[in-house]
Order: sequence, then C-alpha cells, then structure tokens
Amino acid sequence: MSEALPQFQLSRPASIAEVVATLKSHPDARLCAGGTDLIVNMRRGLVETDMLVDLGKVAGLNQITETKKGLEIGAGVTLADLIANKAVQTYTAVLEAAGAIAGPSHRQSATVGGNLCLDTRCLYYNQSHWWRKSNNFCLKYKGDTCHVAPQGNRCRAAFSGDLAPALIVFGAEITLVGPDGTRRLKLADFYHEDGAAHLDLKPGEILTTVHLPKSNARSAYGKVRIREIMDFPLAGVALVCSGAKGDETLSVAVTGTNSMPLMVELTKAQMLGADQDAFFAAINKDVQKSVSPQRTTTTGSHYRRLSIAAVAERLARELCLG
Ligand SMILES: Cc1cc2nc3c(=O)[nH]c(=O)nc-3n(C[C@H](O)[C@H](O)[C@H](O)COP(=O)(O)OP(=O)(O)OC[C@H]3O[C@@H](n4cnc5c(N)ncnc54)[C@H](O)[C@@H]3O)c2cc1C
Ligand code: SF4
Repeated sequence: MSEALPQFQLSRPASIAEVVATLKSHPDARLCAGGTDLIVNMRRGLVETDMLVDLGKVAGLNQITETKKGLEIGAGVTLADLIANKAVQTYTAVLEAAGAIAGPSHRQSATVGGNLCLDTRCLYYNQSHWWRKSNNFCLKYKGDTCHVAPQGNRCRAAFSGDLAPALIVFGAEITLVGPDGTRRLKLADFYHEDGAAHLDLKPGEILTTVHLPKSNARSAYGKVRIREIMDFPLAGVALVCSGAKGDETLSVAVTGTNSMPLMVELTKAQMLGADQDAFFAAINKDVQKSVSPQRTTTTGSHYRRLSIAAVAERLARELCLG
C-alpha cells in the first residue's frame, strides 16, 4: 500500500547551468524527470527530500540530434518520443527495449535519463514504509541486514532498467554535467555492482546526453517478466549482430540479474565454421555464467538465469541466421 506524498518544494530550472546551481545550493534536492519511478518511491518513504528539481523545462534536454558519428539523445527525451523518432529506427534493440518499458501512458512522460538512473529493485525494498519497518528495514535503506544475503555486507538489489543493455551493446557513451564541469564516459562504466550505490553519479551531477554511435547492425532485445502486458524485467537481454552473413560478430548485454547491467563475455563471439549449434549453445552457457540473479524477486534465481540464457540463444539464432 502506498502512503501520502510528503511535502516538497518544486524547482523548475530552464537550463542545465540552473539545474547544477540548484543542486549546489540544495544538496538534498532530487532530480525529477518523468517521475514514474521517483514519485512511487517517495510515496513509499524511500526518498528523503524537501525539494524536487523538475527537468521538464530544461532547454535542449528533450532533443535528438543526428550527427556524422551517430545520435545525441537528450536525457529528457521521453520513451514515446524515442520510439517515434525516425533516426532511431535502425537501432531495433533500443526500440524493442524502450517499447517494453512500463505501459503506453508511462512512456509518454518516462524519460531516457530516468530509465538509465533508475533505482535498483528488491522484494524487501519496493514495499510500503510499514511493511519494511515490520521487517526492521534492510541494509539498502535504514536497516543493517540484507534479507537476501544476510551473511554479506553488500546490497544485491537488481538493476532493472530495460534501456541500458540495449544502448551498451551499441557502445553508447553518456555526458554528465556537475559542479566540477562536464565528463563523458562509456555507459557501461556508469554502473557498479552494488545495489545501494549502483550509479557513478557524483553529488550535484545530472546526466544530460546519451551518445549512440552510428550503426546499421542487426539487433534485438528480449525480456522475461511475470506480466507480459507491463512489468519490470526479471531479466532482459540485448544483442547486436554485426558483419556480413557467415562472418557475424555478436555483442550481448543483460539487465535485471545483477545490481548493474553487464556485457556478457563471449567465448565465441564470432560464428565461424559449420558448427552453428555449438556457437549458439556457447552463447547460452556464457550468459548463464555471467549473470548472478539473487532472491530479490518472487521468481527463483535459477529460473531467471536459465530463461534469460534461453532468450539470448533464441535471439542470437534469429539475428545470425535471419
Ligand atoms: C507500473 C510501472 C511499470 C514499470 N515498468 C518498467 C519496466 O518494465 N522497465 C523499466 O525499465 N522501468 C519500468 N518502470 C520504471 C519507470 O517507469 C521507467 O524506468 C522510466 O523510464 C523512469 O523514467 P522517469 O523519467 O520517469 O524517471 P524518474 O522517476 O523521474 O527518475 C528516476 C530516477 O532517475 C533520476 N534521474 C532522472 N533523470 C535524471 C538525469 N537526467 N540525470 C540524473 N538523474 C536523473 C531521478 O532522480 C530518480 O532517482 C515502471 C514503473 C511503473 C510505475
Ligand atoms: S538485496 Fe538486501 S539490502 Fe538490498 S534491498 Fe534487498 S534486502 Fe535490502
């Protein structure tokens, strides 16, 4: 059960410089893009802040620009606009991942930046305040024990954003702007394997842009979820297949299984020779080996591991064999 939204001030900056200045003068303020995750978490008492910084009016944040090198996607672009954009149509995995996030009305306001900066999720965390209090809270927030792995001292909550793996397989980079200036890094390096601190987002920083390299490679995204109509991924997988027929090279990234999205290290990234079954079986095994789903959902960890490996193998066959 959700609770009432607490009182907060709303700041509506018009530029990125104003966002950074606001965050500097109010260190506890929280960025709010579409609010489709943040507001739910605030109602559950998972976010303590007395100020939200609404990104909806920030100039330039909701644009997609085509350059010689690829696409510059503003963090404030909504998922609906991303899917509708002509220049994005060749990135099938990105379209499929974005289209599988929440429901159509969420996607009208949910943004690319909000999805990449999504909080991690866990059965013991995404609950009402009274539910968590009756369990003495947990290590991620207000408590001292992890109910998923009580012997450990690290939160295992899962990163469950769909878009990140689909951008990572294309080698996307991001720009962050903060009080110390601007920095650019690989999207894959933005995440840590720690459910309580999974983002490399420094105090006062905002993610402004996703840089998606030019690509015509075949790609796909698949996810396993409890409710097919609308649900976070129990596990999700993105694949890019580049190269000519008979000389394909694959890249694979997963989400939902760890506290961060991750690239899968493939023992056989290239489909060489006639033994295609061995190639696809190796992808299945590599995905199984790479992921570490924990008891953070009601669905068994082993099922999540096996099912996402099977989805990866199926999509690899479809992409490579056409
Ligand atoms: C019913 C339901 C189903 C959902 N299903 C899915 C799903 O299947 N897959 C999925 O991935 N998500 C799902 N979501 C979660 C959410 O709707 C999406 O992840 C959405 O893309 C979040 O974007 P937003 O703009 O609403 O983020 P917000 O809620 O505004 O923000 C999310 C977080 O990102 C931070 N943030 C936002 N923008 C920036 C920025 N530019 N720089 C730095 N930090 C920023 C915020 O401070 C906050 O911590 C679901 C949510 C609901 C309610
Ligand atoms: S994995 Fe452990 S610490 Fe993290 S949210 Fe779940 S119960 Fe809490």
